[in-house]
Amino acid sequence: MKIAFIGLGNMGLPMAVNLARAGHDVTGFDTQPVEAPFPLAASAEKAVSGAEVAITMLPDGRILRAVADRIVPAMGAGAILLDCSTVDVESARAVAAQAREAGLVALDAPVSGGIGGAKGGTLTFMVGGGEEAFATVGPLFEIMGRKAVHCGGAGNGQAAKICNNMILGATMIVTCEAFALADKLGLDRQAMFDVVSTSSGYSWSMNAYCPAPGIGPESPADDGYRPGFAAELMLKDLRLAMDAARAADADTPLGRAARDLYETFVEDEDGRGRDFSAMLPRLVARGHG
Ligand code: NAD
Repeated sequence: MKIAFIGLGNMGLPMAVNLARAGHDVTGFDTQPVEAPFPLAASAEKAVSGAEVAITMLPDGRILRAVADRIVPAMGAGAILLDCSTVDVESARAVAAQAREAGLVALDAPVSGGIGGAKGGTLTFMVGGGEEAFATVGPLFEIMGRKAVHCGGAGNGQAAKICNNMILGATMIVTCEAFALADKLGLDRQAMFDVVSTSSGYSWSMNAYCPAPGIGPESPADDGYRPGFAAELMLKDLRLAMDAARAADADTPLGRAARDLYETFVEDEDGRGRDFSAMLPRLVARGHG
């Protein structure tokens, strides 16, 4: 396939490299200088010219909308605009409508799996948009990832992503709270893990990504809380979840509390640049009041 790839940052570049290595005809564009093993275009418009699929992997919804304003008019009728960035549901739906009006097909397909997943081609895609376009880009998802779930119409991929990460953020915090409480009650961390990981308190945060160093499988806690999944990226996703909750009039008290705590951690404390599970040493260092 002839593919334009716009946004060649930490995630986009390795995803584009995997597509090029698999034999696709990839042309890239980024506003910053990048070194890539495939041709780069001088503008976003030039990159998408003649492309069957334009993939975007950009920082946020505002930038996605600005890029869409440039590339949608430059794409040929029937081409697919595949946005893999994590953005607000509203921007995803607005860009999809803009693409539809111009005779294009749009899919929102945010990912989980992080930079390791992008490099290894093991991402999970959560996809909103039409069935037919989902099937057409299926082979691309297979190269860049391990799993792609069709979640319904435009914006539903983003909806699935922020709901998942709201659960993850709140669950990580309470898992860390439980370890901090266990410490103060004199309960050994390994014993706590052995019980909870096989009891009704189990979760991905406890079982697969344990925030306590030396406990459970290897995780960022064992590497001095080097990310992994950085606290500021968790904050981004929790803010998107709260924006969506406000717009949809949904009551999300724990999601809001998780957003507030990661905001304090990242903006007022030492959370920026640390893994989101570094909430554990933060909580251990504090008292009840
Ligand atoms: P990044 O900042 O490394 O990459 C974004 C790239 O977009 C940069 O290279 C930037 O120069 C480029 N860019 C900005 N404006 C542009 C424009 N107008 N035209 C073309 N290029 C432009 O970010 P990232 O870590 O690659 O993340 C990309 C997206 O993936 C984000 O939405 C993020 O939330 C999401 N995501 C990231 C991770 C992760 O672990 N890094 C995991 C899941 C999802």
